[in-house]
Amino acid sequence: MSRYVFVTGGVLSSLGKGITASSLGALLKASGVNVTIMKCDPYLNVDPGTMSPYQHGEVFVTEDGAETDLDLGHYERFIDVNLTKYNSVTTGQVYSTVIAKERRGDYLGATVQVIPHVTNTIKEAIERVARINDATVTIVEVGGTVGDIEGLPYLEAIRQMRNDVGRENVCYIHVTYIPFSKAIGEMKTKPTQHSVREMRAIGLAPDIIVCRTQKALTPEARAKISLFCDIDKDSVLEARDADCLYEIPLLMGEQGLATRVLRRLGLDAPPPDLEPWKQVVGQFRQRKARRARIGLVGKYVKVADAYLSVLEALTHASLPHEIGCEVVWVAAEQLEKDPPEKHLADLDGVVVPGGFGDRGIEGKIAAIRFCREHGLPFLGLCLGMQCAVIEFARHVAGLPEANSTEFDPATPAPVISLLPDQTGVVKGGTMRLGAYPCRIVEKTLAERLYKTSLVYERHRHRYEVNNEFRARLARKGLVFSGTSPDQQLVEMIELPGHPFFLACQFHPEFKSRPLHPHPLFLGFFEAAAARAAGRYP
Ligand code: GLN
Repeated sequence: MSRYVFVTGGVLSSLGKGITASSLGALLKASGVNVTIMKCDPYLNVDPGTMSPYQHGEVFVTEDGAETDLDLGHYERFIDVNLTKYNSVTTGQVYSTVIAKERRGDYLGATVQVIPHVTNTIKEAIERVARINDATVTIVEVGGTVGDIEGLPYLEAIRQMRNDVGRENVCYIHVTYIPFSKAIGEMKTKPTQHSVREMRAIGLAPDIIVCRTQKALTPEARAKISLFCDIDKDSVLEARDADCLYEIPLLMGEQGLATRVLRRLGLDAPPPDLEPWKQVVGQFRQRKARRARIGLVGKYVKVADAYLSVLEALTHASLPHEIGCEVVWVAAEQLEKDPPEKHLADLDGVVVPGGFGDRGIEGKIAAIRFCREHGLPFLGLCLGMQCAVIEFARHVAGLPEANSTEFDPATPAPVISLLPDQTGVVKGGTMRLGAYPCRIVEKTLAERLYKTSLVYERHRHRYEVNNEFRARLARKGLVFSGTSPDQQLVEMIELPGHPFFLACQFHPEFKSRPLHPHPLFLGFFEAAAARAAGRYP
């Protein structure tokens, strides 16, 4: 039977609950404990796939094709395993299940209620994750903040689980925020006290409180939290703002997070082997006076979370280098107004990430043209690949009106289009999602980087390279270096003779991990770093 750790948040959202849960996961895994993590999101969307990145940040895609919260990305990067659709549950899914059962008559005439029907469905989802992963410890992060109306069924469910599985098998971690009042020069613990009181009102009491702070937690603040929240001082941990996410497991480990959880759950485990994490942090901390400037040409340049996995993958790829990575945000729409050199001339590489809709497309195409013509390293991801195909068709293959039917349904040269069986789709869960095999063509850059002939990469798209144009594009020099095993779908393109010009229909960023940087990002960053090195004396 699995033990459970429930992570809730108080005071504010975006406190780093996900990172706390992930760090605990990393520490337990480093001690050899079989651990899994799941996220419960209290919104009514069935999944975040239909939400704007402005609302929600990146949509993370799992191997089995679930569109999930970006916290799943943190979990995978920290515990270095592939999670599944079961590791993410939303209120939208819970209610869909309950209502479908009610319509089938499964409740046998009962009045269907939040307690027990909704809470039971939540508990089943949690227990399923534990069972499927055969987990010794299942970490469950409850999204939102204690006190939110929509979070109540989850809190009730995790309260009930204490009785279901036994007090000795559950541990509650509450992550809160400790503001610092400049006016009186003091850390304020009152919001934390209120948040814990709110928990108590619904029958929950934290075993561990993790305090997000900007400065070191003062002994006075710790003592107050201990007194008012009825918890021993050593169970009040500090989570200070950190520039390197991957240092957080180490910082949390030093404060005894994992030891405390293991003790609470009555588990024995050897001390964690944190050497790999220390190495990652060491590489991150190395004085990197020189930096490769990587332009990220996107639509949501004001929301860093919209491209979270891409940013992390770039960081992972830069770790082994003496040259660091500096991401320069380039608003695609700006490239439609200004000459591209204004924004791109002093960059060492350009990434055009995924996206939907026609806003900024011409700017992305202009950026790619600039990269192609100026030997600037280019990595295109999903939409980035589609734009690269359009650019090549227009400016090299003599199809000046080439476009994707996503942006111009009436284009005379639809080099990117829907597959015939995909027309008429509705929004929400209708894309090509999750991992598919990709066969790598021999003697290509793709093969040099992957060092293998078959890879599985994650997808999230509707449109494809139109096979009617493949021969023409190939004749003009575009290399299709990866395809589906039946060769019907283009998965990768590249341009030989260019320092680095490669794009893929899938999202390699979802599979990059600090302990295993992704080969395509490694190759791209190496080319950008070589270019950067040339800029320095
Ligand atoms: N909008 C494109 C498609 O649906 C690309 C999607 C993406 O970049 N994730 O095919």
